Amino acid sequence: MKDCIFCRIISSEAPATIVFADEFVTAFFDIHPITPVHILVVPNEHIESVNEVEEKHAALLGHMIVVARQLAFANGLDQRGYRLVINTGPEAGQSVFHLHLHLIGGRRMPFRFQ
Ligand code: AMP
Ligand code: ZN
Repeated sequence: MKDCIFCRIISSEAPATIVFADEFVTAFFDIHPITPVHILVVPNEHIESVNEVEEKHAALLGHMIVVARQLAFANGLDQRGYRLVINTGPEAGQSVFHLHLHLIGGRRMPFRFQ
């Protein structure tokens, strides 16, 4: 998708600090971190949101969580705790319509998202 910022990051047309990449996913630092560790795990395939997820994507979504878990360990969050968040649609505050998993941690977080 030419006009999708995350597709452009995945194809190296737009800059990002990439912390992990393989055949299926790319992970990079969020440009506006809300916690000391804030990484986005993004499928290389352009899927707009969880609303577009199908059964054929099940392994991909599982892989996104495995990668997020590895990054949580790599950033020393496994014992401290962290959140994995996927915003879907306007009322959840989704602002980039390419599916992504937020890995956030590194400080105590309130129950409610701000
Ligand atoms: P969401 O609100 O769940 O759609 O999350 C989108 C996230 O993407 C926000 O936390 C943004 O700060 C982040 N973001 C937007 N553009 C970029 C970019 N070029 N590089 C890194 N993160 C970005
Ligand atoms: Zn995209």
